[in-house]
Amino acid sequence: MTVLISRSPLTGEPVGEHPVHGPEEVRAAVDRAREAARAWAACGWAGRRTRLLTWKRSLAHRMDELAELIGAETGKPPHDARAEVLLALVHLDWAARNARRVLGRRRVPSGPLAVHQRSLLTHRPLGVIGAIGPWNYPLHTPMGSLGPALAAGNAVVFKPSELTPGVGVLLAATLTDALPDHPHLLQTVTGPGATGEALVRSGADKIAFTGSPATARKVAAVCAERLTPLLAECGGKDAVIVDASADLDAAADAIVWGALANAGQTCAGVERVYAVAPIHAALCDRIVHRARALRPGAGPDASYGPLTLPTQLATVERHVKDALAAGARALYGGPESVRPPYAHPVVLVDVPEDSPAMREETFGPVVAVNAVRDLDEAVTRANASAYALGAAVFTGSRRTGRAIAERLASGAVSVNSVLGFAAVPTLPFGGSGDSGHGRVHGAEGLRAFAAPHALTVRRFRPPVDLTSFSTPRRRAARAVAVGRWLHSRR
Ligand code: NAD
Repeated sequence: MTVLISRSPLTGEPVGEHPVHGPEEVRAAVDRAREAARAWAACGWAGRRTRLLTWKRSLAHRMDELAELIGAETGKPPHDARAEVLLALVHLDWAARNARRVLGRRRVPSGPLAVHQRSLLTHRPLGVIGAIGPWNYPLHTPMGSLGPALAAGNAVVFKPSELTPGVGVLLAATLTDALPDHPHLLQTVTGPGATGEALVRSGADKIAFTGSPATARKVAAVCAERLTPLLAECGGKDAVIVDASADLDAAADAIVWGALANAGQTCAGVERVYAVAPIHAALCDRIVHRARALRPGAGPDASYGPLTLPTQLATVERHVKDALAAGARALYGGPESVRPPYAHPVVLVDVPEDSPAMREETFGPVVAVNAVRDLDEAVTRANASAYALGAAVFTGSRRTGRAIAERLASGAVSVNSVLGFAAVPTLPFGGSGDSGHGRVHGAEGLRAFAAPHALTVRRFRPPVDLTSFSTPRRRAARAVAVGRWLHSRR
């Protein structure tokens, strides 16, 4: 077993050493999880809720410890790391409290053809969920799958990013500490992509993957071999549309945060802005003014931290250089803004729509602000992306905001804020196209980790039993004719 060393992106110093788990260790973890899932299922809805809320409280008590390790492995400043823990708590809390309501047994109408049946719908856990996570929000992002998976009655084997294995190990340890009777309910396996692939091949009952679309394609190909279901939460190239009636100060404030917070390393971060021509210049002034005030760094006063994945610095630089070579203008910053380990803010305008800065996920503190004729053109451009994760609209009219939101292809839209949906635990989160498929959070997030189970219980003998050979043909034919008549009426 070789060793995986996680390093501080700020200093390159080691943060922790973890085993590289191979296929056998991963399979053993899945076998242990299968046992754990049985005991967990036996706890029932109320038992799981109580236990998950106990775990949640202990995570809240251990917020500083978690945030410190998140900061050490990602480089993000302490306030960002603590906010990340808070987001994870909000979603875990909702999943724990709402699992029974969403997934528990309920009666459903039987319909006129089956009045003699009592119909019941329940949701059963899938068994063992294999969760594979990224490094940009190493606690909050996996919790989007872990919370609902556990609340639905499953056990989880979690493979964190090789950049943030310590956070994954600590997360599993917090659950074992809080619920010592469930030692294998949440286990972490560590290692590079190969460990993730071993998890996908391990016989887990569903894979919950969060990461890039390129890796999602590889994971999907392996899942296809066994028809293992896959939830894929991938990247984004989120657009913000700004209408002439918008409060430009509020829009600029939100755009700068959405694009530059966490050094732009947010799947649903703002990467493209389409502002209608009459207010484009005024909006850009406000964006540049705010971007100028930001300082990447390490301490508590830093606006944001370094790029966690060192090779991402080259991608950011390439996107900026290509855009400028293709005719874009930099209103603030430029290729020289990339100063390892940091990338300072870059504000671009007039960026050709076919340049990588508009088409590929930049995942750095770069925002492209293009002018558009009108809102129709803004919608067309926003939707002309391989990604469809989040989006936002700024406007003085809520009605316009809602109308534009309905025309956007993304899985979530915020009107007059950015990422407004991310902190709402009742709303599902996820996208389509290169942004993946399936949803985490909310009722859909819980259903993603459960199998619907349909049940009918015959209450009495029906006047015409269509599921019996002993029903006279003529009588059955009359019943079908009545049904046909009913369904052909207006
Ligand atoms: P990545 O695709 O490089 O890696 C993600 C995970 O997959 C890691 O744990 C990695 O070890 C594992 N992996 C790599 N190869 C594998 C294989 N062949 N089989 C199985 N697992 C494998 O992504 P990343 O760089 O860690 O994360 C950044 C990406 O994640 C960005 O695209 C970002 O937008 C996306 N992201 C999406 C969301 C969301 O909810 N939609 C949230 C956070 C991040």
